[in-house]
Amino acid sequence: MWTCRNCNVSFPFDRVEPEADKQGFFFLCPACDYRNQLVDSGPDAMGRPKLVQSDDGVPPHDQPD
Ligand SMILES: [Zn+2]
Repeated sequence: MWTCRNCNVSFPFDRVEPEADKQGFFFLCPACDYRNQLVDSGPDAMGRPKLVQSDDGVPPHDQPD
């Protein structure tokens, strides 16, 4: 689930489409259009970018999988 940092609503991964621009990965909250930053934590088993939400103050690699 993605959780919007602005309105705190959660969405299943298949409800939102991650996007990327020169500032990095993000998704736009379907409820409030807030830009939620995503972090590429490296390729997954299929070699695709594995995107995670960067929680405040917690490096992505320290989060439980
Ligand atoms: Zn929101």
